[in-house]
Amino acid sequence: MSRRGFLGAASGAAITSSARSLGKHSPFGALYPGSADKPAGRIVDMHVHFDQKPGFLDDLLRLADRINLTACLLTPFANRQVVADAAKQHPRQIVPFGFIDLDAPDAVRQMEELRSLGFRGLGELEFVKKPYNDPSYFPVYELANRYGWPVLFHTGIVLRKNFDVPEDVASGRMRPIHLEEIARRFPKITVIGAHCGNPEYEWAAEIARWNPNVFFDLSGSTLTKMHGRLAEFQKIFWWSALNWSERTPDHDPSAFVKLVFGSDSDLSGVESVASQYQALFEACDVPERTRRMIMGGTLSKLLGLTD
Ligand SMILES: [Zn+2]
Repeated sequence: MSRRGFLGAASGAAITSSARSLGKHSPFGALYPGSADKPAGRIVDMHVHFDQKPGFLDDLLRLADRINLTACLLTPFANRQVVADAAKQHPRQIVPFGFIDLDAPDAVRQMEELRSLGFRGLGELEFVKKPYNDPSYFPVYELANRYGWPVLFHTGIVLRKNFDVPEDVASGRMRPIHLEEIARRFPKITVIGAHCGNPEYEWAAEIARWNPNVFFDLSGSTLTKMHGRLAEFQKIFWWSALNWSERTPDHDPSAFVKLVFGSDSDLSGVESVASQYQALFEACDVPERTRRMIMGGTLSKLLGLTD
């Protein structure tokens, strides 16, 4: 779930001004130096929510061209056709992901329809009525496994939409630990946890360490909350020196290669989130090749994106 409007008021100003002060050194340029006529290297954003506001797709295409971005576009089932059409027209900029309600009785049928429309994965799954590893959800995972789909799960704390109305929502059903069983039972699913389990980063990282098919994004409030102590992530992604690279993307031994870029932001905030990732890379001394994998390399391979 996007933090638009929630985080925006609290932290947007600070982030935006820090991004602006980076100005000439855009986070993208810093990662992949380009030139005037050659754009910087491709960024793949795992976490862009489709927005029904008029002009959204045009704005997305403009942003994609300006900063060389491919967006995994997380699409409510009701908006499936417009996003399927846009992705067919602009396959370099848009990879369609479909949101389905895991508790819907026809969830499997919805997946079949999404696939027939060209969708490439599921997400962001969230607001479940039972823990993610509840057996009643297995038919969905079985089909995702058969399709070889990536699935993006919200993990950790979740926003409360309405303070005055009772709601059947619990972050405890979306803990990162539940993803471990899904990854093990369904090894052809690439399990991607949004928000790195906020605040259960340690569980998230350990599950990613042992499961080659598990990754996390660091969207949401974490990089804002931790901005003064980002080096702490070195203690959480601690195993780089162990040469844990047999089944990592590009045989990268850095523990940080288990992260992928996700913004979960308004389009106007994508570059700010990339700046926050850049600050994390600096604070944790993440190698250049790993930065490239995080910002797009891993997802490009996973999704078969070619240039
Ligand atoms: Zn989320």
